[in-house]
Amino acid sequence: MSDSTFDYERFCDDLGPAKIVHLHDPLVGLQAILVIDNVALGPSIGGVRMAPDVTTEEVFRLARAMTLKNAAAGLPHGGGKAGILADPKTVPKESLIRAFARAIRGLGDYIPGPDMGTDESCMAWIEDEIGRAVGLPRSLGGIPLDEIGATGWGLAACAEVAADFCALELDGATLAIEGFGNVGRPAARFLAEKGVRLVAASDSRGAVHDPGGIDVEELIAAKDASGSVTGHSGGTKISHEELFTVPCDILIPAARPDCIHEGNVAGIQAKLLLQGANIPATSAAETELHQRGILVVPDFIANAGGVICASVEYHGGSEEDALVQIAGKIGSNTREVLRAAHAGGVEPRAAAVALAMERVEEAMARGRVST
Ligand code: NAD
Repeated sequence: MSDSTFDYERFCDDLGPAKIVHLHDPLVGLQAILVIDNVALGPSIGGVRMAPDVTTEEVFRLARAMTLKNAAAGLPHGGGKAGILADPKTVPKESLIRAFARAIRGLGDYIPGPDMGTDESCMAWIEDEIGRAVGLPRSLGGIPLDEIGATGWGLAACAEVAADFCALELDGATLAIEGFGNVGRPAARFLAEKGVRLVAASDSRGAVHDPGGIDVEELIAAKDASGSVTGHSGGTKISHEELFTVPCDILIPAARPDCIHEGNVAGIQAKLLLQGANIPATSAAETELHQRGILVVPDFIANAGGVICASVEYHGGSEEDALVQIAGKIGSNTREVLRAAHAGGVEPRAAAVALAMERVEEAMARGRVST
């Protein structure tokens, strides 16, 4: 396994990781990594990623991101993440997932959820094996977070608050979205309800641009019918890269990591950038955006809708509860982070990390007192 490449000295700090577990079951060909980063706020929640090349370092970085995201969202959960080394397109998925579930049965401070390469069916198998999973199908009492557009709903709540910090009126504002998937589509739909006009969208096959506005429902129908936003009959087809430089007020990267970088950041024209994807900008590019006065709401504040939904499900809440909590928590966190960034003259990410760290450290201090 990739354990030998993990640099413990570099990554271990006062927060964690609490546990790094390597799982191996040769009978079913299971090789997996579980990192439970920090549980001061409660049992860790984080996705199970299935990919042939997932490494301990990647799982650790994702687990740490969950520690910060869950703390910032005010959830009673720490951060964890799992990686199963397998190609989700070719493996016998059910037997592998069931073996993984049995292997983590005793690790009760980790609650698995869906991530790249796993979905609600996988969570149903884990629930069946060990009675502990989130992101379950509706038939098992789950709240299907992608179906309801939980993360896009949160991005719309984030936009509403952030707009006040960059003198933007949402009604009539223009929007470009990289990645018209489970995050991008509902974000476009919920923002359209607030009067925002979609002018460009991309997916893995290309991008479409219409400065006059693209009807979101027509674009969804075109993507469903043809498999791509490029199947939309209106507008002009543009490249993936051109999407980042179209004139617009709001830009939402909602697909790949590091898609905004030193090579394209100068062309960005938006006033507000909401990070729908995880780590969609390099830190140098994020700093440059800040210096140019473009307001960036960092990923673990803006895209927490999915994990808030998972937490509501775990604690027995309904879909309505989830939508209320997502809008409430993301709205108030966005306000708190942007006020602190403004007051301290720092980048929103620095203010967001400080907010999350304060919550984790408070919980760790409470834990020390009570033991
Ligand atoms: P998804 O697979 O549903 O959608 C991704 C979209 O991006 C697809 O339409 C795909 O065609 C498109 N895409 C792929 N490569 C592209 C490229 N080079 N240029 C433009 N578009 C491209 O995935 P998702 O669930 O929407 O997740 C998107 C990102 O948001 C990921 O980084 C994910 O980790 C993150 N995220 C998702 C959630 C959630 O609730 N689903 C929550 C938090 C963060």
